[in-house]
Amino acid sequence: MTEPRPLKIYNTLSGKKEEFRPITPGHIGMYVCGPTVYSDVHLGNCRTFCSFDNIYRYLLHIGYKVRYVRNITDVGHLTDDGEDRMTKGAKVAQLEPMEVAQRYTVGFHDMMRIFNTLPPSIEPRATGHIIEQIEMVQQILDRGLAYERNGSIYFNVPKFAGEYAGVYGSVSGRILEDLYTETRELKSQEEKNHPADFAIWMKARPQDLMIWNSPWSVGFPGWHLECSAMSTKYLGKTFDIHGGGNDLKFPHHENEVAQNHGACGCHPANYWVHTNMLLLNGKKMSKSDGNTISPTELFTGTSEHTSKAYSPMAVRFFMLMAHYRSTLDITDDGLMAAEKGFLKIMETNRLLQNLVVNARDFDGSETPSDRAISSLIQEAYAGMDDDFNTAIAIASLNEMGSFVHKLSNQQLATSEVSPWVLDRMKVVFSTFLFDIFGLADESATGSDTGTVEGLMNLILEIRAQARTQKDWGTSDKIRDTLSAVGITVKDGKEGVSWAKA
Ligand code: AMP
Ligand code: ZN
Repeated sequence: MTEPRPLKIYNTLSGKKEEFRPITPGHIGMYVCGPTVYSDVHLGNCRTFCSFDNIYRYLLHIGYKVRYVRNITDVGHLTDDGEDRMTKGAKVAQLEPMEVAQRYTVGFHDMMRIFNTLPPSIEPRATGHIIEQIEMVQQILDRGLAYERNGSIYFNVPKFAGEYAGVYGSVSGRILEDLYTETRELKSQEEKNHPADFAIWMKARPQDLMIWNSPWSVGFPGWHLECSAMSTKYLGKTFDIHGGGNDLKFPHHENEVAQNHGACGCHPANYWVHTNMLLLNGKKMSKSDGNTISPTELFTGTSEHTSKAYSPMAVRFFMLMAHYRSTLDITDDGLMAAEKGFLKIMETNRLLQNLVVNARDFDGSETPSDRAISSLIQEAYAGMDDDFNTAIAIASLNEMGSFVHKLSNQQLATSEVSPWVLDRMKVVFSTFLFDIFGLADESATGSDTGTVEGLMNLILEIRAQARTQKDWGTSDKIRDTLSAVGITVKDGKEGVSWAKA
């Protein structure tokens, strides 16, 4: 692992790339808004979580200790008509809201595993932090920045904007008047002093199912509050990086900042990182607009938008080919090109790892190819150091790939590349593919499975022969040895089968 190196991160707060300076040298606290678990994640959600996975992986790779917190929203995220998404999902499926939350949390984890993302260090749930949220409401009330109406508590936006000049609007970059007019008319609008005020605690209505006692009413916390409360709990009042999709800038993140100031008097995060949207037919992929592709549809080739199935790693590579701050339009052609690119880069890696050059051919001096490869390695790192530009890093690897192919088909003499440069290229190539980009060699997984199948067939054949010859010693030895490695053999009517525990 290399030491932490100079890194530039585009900070939404300043609207430009900034030299990254963590609060504690060598350590990073990163909070990313997680999914609302009332339905399956769509590919747009996956793009955002894969982008943060690449950021997390790179920070780890360059030597930081990262505490990565990504929450699960399982209460309080209301639809435009003011209904809690979990409750709505529960009514539709005739389930308990927590059954809905559990089902889609499991589905989300499965999908994140399929995309080969690393789990966060902490994954707190909103419903597991009601006490912390109630405490935060009280802190905001104590500082005079919220008021009570009929058991609900509202954040007083105009008062906050007056006391903390320039803060409200700092995430979305919009001026106050625009934010005031953009605030949607939601339920309980008539209770508020100002349309821009937002609920941090809501008194339950008869139809609400997820409710808790509080000093003000039986009710539930406002959606924005959970992230303020949980990021503070696990990362402190001010931490390094706060992330999410750029559709969350307003109102979610703007209100989060206001709440943190309201409760603690300080800004929650030094760097705000926002990923751009995955588009379908030029429009944001969005569940509420019915404009989505599910990852499963893509993997099984059942989406009406694609002509065939694409593997999870081809899809991940497709996402990696665009910088996280650019929009990305999902098309069949784009996926096909990505699939080709993914297979090619994996094949290049296999060729590279098998290349051998003879150290005796070298006098220790640097060849032109050595210099070119070394500078491509630097370019790959420079791309990632420049606001995690995976597209540039991939382009540099592909250029390295042309050296690999030339060496492998002898267009380039092996004496043209020094063994230490070849070794470095091997390490860098596989580190980028597997550790930083989070790709997996799908063909390797397939062949491993095939190898196991083949070996098991052979072992069971030997066991069958032994049994035919009444050689019980060999037969038992095979069964016991397999059992010791967690494989059980069953003799059934249909023949012999085996299973791994
Ligand atoms: P949600 O479950 O709606 O709260 O969304 C979870 C995450 O996915 C948030 O960070 C959103 O910003 C992000 N997201 C939603 N739609 C898209 C999209 N079309 N492209 C990329 N990210 C998205
Ligand atoms: Zn959030």
